[in-house]
Amino acid sequence: MHELSITQSVVDAVCERAAGRPVRTVRLRVGALTAVVPDAMRFCFDLTTAGTVAEGALLEIDQPPGTAHCRACERDFTLTDLVLLCPCGSADVNITSGRELQIVSMRVG
Ligand SMILES: [Zn+2]
Repeated sequence: MHELSITQSVVDAVCERAAGRPVRTVRLRVGALTAVVPDAMRFCFDLTTAGTVAEGALLEIDQPPGTAHCRACERDFTLTDLVLLCPCGSADVNITSGRELQIVSMRVG
C-alpha cells in the first residue's frame, strides 16, 4: 500500500507548515495516474495524523484525470487509468498531467 508512505510525507509537510497550530482541513490534488486510492489515503491520513496537530483534520481529495499528447496523431487526450494508449492505438504518448500530488490548501487555527 503505497498510500501510507505518500500520506506520511504529506502529513509531515502539513505539520511543519502548521507550526504548532491545529490543522482543520487539508486539500490535496492527486492526479489519477498516481494510482492513489482516495479511500485508502483517507484511512492512512487518520493513522498518520494521530497525535499530531493535524489529528481530526478533514482531508479533501481532488483527483483530476490525466492528460497526454500523442506523438503519432498529434492529439491531446484524457487518461482515466494507467493504460497509456492513444485512442488511435499508438503507445507513443507523452504524459502532460496526472502524476501531480500537491497540497492545494490547508486551514489552520
Ligand atoms: Zn494518437
